[in-house]
Amino acid sequence: MNILFPVTVEEALDSLQANPDAKVMAGGTDLLVKRRAGSPAPGCIVCLEKVADIMGVGILEDRIRIGAATTMTALLKNEAVREELPLLHSAMKFFASPLVRNMATLGGNICTASPAADSLPPLYVLGAEVEIYSSAGKRHMSIADFITAPGRTALVPGELLGAVTVPVPLKNCIQHFEKVGRRKALAISVVSLAALLRIEEGVIAEARLAWGSVGPTVVRCPEAEALLMGREPTMETFIRVGESVRRAVRPISDIRASVEYRRQVAANLVLRLAGQGTD
Ligand SMILES: Cc1cc2nc3c(=O)[nH]c(=O)nc-3n(C[C@H](O)[C@H](O)[C@H](O)COP(=O)(O)OP(=O)(O)OC[C@H]3O[C@@H](n4cnc5c(N)ncnc54)[C@H](O)[C@@H]3O)c2cc1C
Repeated sequence: MNILFPVTVEEALDSLQANPDAKVMAGGTDLLVKRRAGSPAPGCIVCLEKVADIMGVGILEDRIRIGAATTMTALLKNEAVREELPLLHSAMKFFASPLVRNMATLGGNICTASPAADSLPPLYVLGAEVEIYSSAGKRHMSIADFITAPGRTALVPGELLGAVTVPVPLKNCIQHFEKVGRRKALAISVVSLAALLRIEEGVIAEARLAWGSVGPTVVRCPEAEALLMGREPTMETFIRVGESVRRAVRPISDIRASVEYRRQVAANLVLRLAGQGTD
């Protein structure tokens, strides 16, 4: 197998074009686990570990730009992410273990497109966009359009996920992430919830909710979001949306949890939003 270590984006794209059967590898924490489990060996692996242009966090005017090859450890330590995107920061705190976070990248988590990927519900509610590179240039799309099915994205051969940009949320927002797993640490989520509520004059002026691990991809619930509008963020308000959440989620039973447990937890997690402070 041919293993390539490009150092620039151009070299990485050239390598992908010259090797149509190539697979991109960032941290390898999904790719190598799948290989060990028997997935077929690609003819060529294009490693991103030296491509500095797609690593790190930058501040644009009103957006935060995160290079696809930024590790979860770097993301967790980043001050702008902690201050402006506490939702994403919290998701990283509960992601895997320090050793895995040192290798795993945000781009790898997105491209794996697992229903349980911890970065995805926060990126959906934050309205993130992806930047896709190819030798023909750059294209952009929303994260929701990028994830097309479980394990599938809009990337076509020869393309690379280059970065994710996230609009900085307005102030007076409640940003909340919670993940329920089989144990407190190093657990794949059984249900997760990312929420962003904008509060104006004591009532909810905008609500965005997204759940992980309760459907083939991230699940939104426009009905619950609409029910929250104009109401005070009290326990009574969040109890009202339980039924619409239970209807919206489409979980499966697997070794981690049953359908009914996931439905109930998806609705219960919303109750945690009562009494949260705004930033
Ligand atoms: C012990 C363990 C615990 C874990 N715990 C969690 C957890 O708590 N939460 C969670 O969400 N996940 C978890 N994972 C899964 C995994 O760590 C993450 O999905 C991780 O973010 C993948 O990133 P990576 O850089 O290692 O990707 P890789 O394994 O390198 O790549 C994954 C896929 O993305 C593609 N890819 C990667 N980067 C790009 C790019 N820039 N452009 C195009 N394609 C690209 C690769 O071709 C491959 O198909 C865990 C894994 C392990 C082994």
